[in-house]
Amino acid sequence: MLEFKPKLNIDSPLAEPDVYIRDLDADFEVSYPHGDFTISRTKTGNILSRYRDDFWDLSPYAIHSRAPSIIYFKKTIPNEGSVLLDEYKWIMFIIIFIADSGRSGFLSISTICGHANSVAFLAKYCLAQKTSIRDFLKNEKEVRKFFGQATITKRKKERISYIFQYLNKLDKTVTGFDLCNEMKINFAKTLKSDKPKQTVVIPTRILSEIISSCTEFLREYREVEEKFLTLVKKSNENSAFGRSKGRQKSNCPGIATLEDDFNTACNKLGLSVYMNKNNIFDLHGVSRHLRKLQYACKLLIHLYTGMRDDEVSRLMYDCLHTEKTVNGRVFRIVGETTKLVGLKKAERWITSPEIEPAIHIAKGISKTIAEGIGVSDHILFLPVSNLNFSPSSKNSKNLLQSGFNDIKNSIFSIVIEDSDVKELQKISPSADWLSDPKFQIGAIWPIATHQFRRTLAVYAAQSGLVSLPSLKRQLKHITNEMTLYYAASSSFSSSLFGDDKMHFRHEFNESKLYGEGLGYIYNLLLSDQALHGVQGIWLEKHERKNDEIHILASRENTLKRFKRGELAYADTPLGACLSREACDKKPMRAVSACISCDKAVIVEAKLEKVIFYQNALLEDLNQGSMEYRMEKEQLDDLCRLHAQIQRKKNVSTD
Ligand code: SF4
Repeated sequence: MLEFKPKLNIDSPLAEPDVYIRDLDADFEVSYPHGDFTISRTKTGNILSRYRDDFWDLSPYAIHSRAPSIIYFKKTIPNEGSVLLDEYKWIMFIIIFIADSGRSGFLSISTICGHANSVAFLAKYCLAQKTSIRDFLKNEKEVRKFFGQATITKRKKERISYIFQYLNKLDKTVTGFDLCNEMKINFAKTLKSDKPKQTVVIPTRILSEIISSCTEFLREYREVEEKFLTLVKKSNENSAFGRSKGRQKSNCPGIATLEDDFNTACNKLGLSVYMNKNNIFDLHGVSRHLRKLQYACKLLIHLYTGMRDDEVSRLMYDCLHTEKTVNGRVFRIVGETTKLVGLKKAERWITSPEIEPAIHIAKGISKTIAEGIGVSDHILFLPVSNLNFSPSSKNSKNLLQSGFNDIKNSIFSIVIEDSDVKELQKISPSADWLSDPKFQIGAIWPIATHQFRRTLAVYAAQSGLVSLPSLKRQLKHITNEMTLYYAASSSFSSSLFGDDKMHFRHEFNESKLYGEGLGYIYNLLLSDQALHGVQGIWLEKHERKNDEIHILASRENTLKRFKRGELAYADTPLGACLSREACDKKPMRAVSACISCDKAVIVEAKLEKVIFYQNALLEDLNQGSMEYRMEKEQLDDLCRLHAQIQRKKNVSTD
């Protein structure tokens, strides 16, 4: 039994329309909803429109009262097109109640009315061609003819494509519409053209700056959080508080005793220094600052989970869950996805403890806003426009987050440097970064949330690509967790995270082989360090005898060999492991097992670092203990290898 709820912005439980229920096991044929099915209700619960009506009035769910909010069916299609009228109505029902509705999980009424115009256009075309929409969609020749018409504008074609995409994402047993191959091919082309955008991996220096800017911005706020939220709460509850004298009088005519203005309120709360530092001079500034805080929190969630924009926008207030397991405390974000035939389904993402402060701050802001409008079940990023002092404040509640495009670069503006472009070319070699104006040296990094998904997948799958120690430290926890829980061979993989093909863990696994290939090329073939160990010596003799230009020229081929599973690479404390099988030697001798292994590459600088830490470890152990003897044996092996390398170097320089 499937239940479909409308994707409308409903701010009163009384205004809820009916829920559409389908039993796919019993209903083999698509059956339209019953004529009495309630499509809309007034805010007080009175029925406004039913499925059978000639028009559907959706005005109770509109945010802007003056925008169109009624869909007229009969006005568009005359009586002789009754089949088309039914199809028109059914497609609109699918869009409102069944389909996946994008970033926020909801549709605005103006978007719905825009889609209604597109479906009406298609229905009129089918009427003129004396066919039904169902038959039209099946007929490849007809679809080509439709899109080939010189009279249809590019914009119109795009808008109609949106409708086809809604239908294409759903199973035909749910919609009753069977799309021809031509459309499926067209959608595949659309996806293909998006691909270069998905491959942007944020260079390590820029990623590190984004993390430190957001973290520092939030850390400073944490110090004044309570006072700041007190100011927000009081200013929201009292339309005079925190305003200038003139504003107090216009907001509260006849006010007997004036309230504290903004500066006095900040002084009394001990917020003046913070406000000055952040250029906040009035309540509009407070509202913008709250959005900046939400934006910083949201970026960190993307960064530490790999979630998509719509997935984070839809997160509910209590989304962070922690669990004690045999592997320690595990942090998970629990949210919803609607990727499966428009159904909401719980989804989980592994995350890192670094995310806790960001979630805490986002919750604090959201809770304050929610208390002001009297809602208890709400999203994590409740819009700031619900505060009465916000410049975009509306009379009705707004329970959906529409994004932060207007405040991009307000927390950081990172200028692209030469080294970043080189790194871009290194990590994403298939794109021509030099000719893309967005990625020119001196330009501001064009931040976009989808970049974090790919970036996290590549860096977490191959931590050897992260050369900055601070960034490596920041990503260490999430890297370990993702390898444990998301890796294709993990026993947790599908049992914990379901089978959604769009889940981040698939991106993580796909990036794994790609990241391994890049690690092999840049950390071994192009490294300026001499390689030792069985595999290291082989690489020196065969692969590294080519110059850099040759190695780079065959980069795509090398990456393909990793994709086919012919080569493998993993970073190890002593250098690298090129084994394609899971290691069965390490459990007994954690680090030094690699010394005698025929799959190992040893790098001298890494070996010296391990010797340093092994010495430090021994200093802390009791000399008579078994543990001391075992660790000492390892240290001796490591030192022997180091001495061998030194002897070899001396021989070659003599
Ligand atoms: S012991 Fe061998 S197989 Fe195991 S990690 Fe080291 S190099 Fe790889």
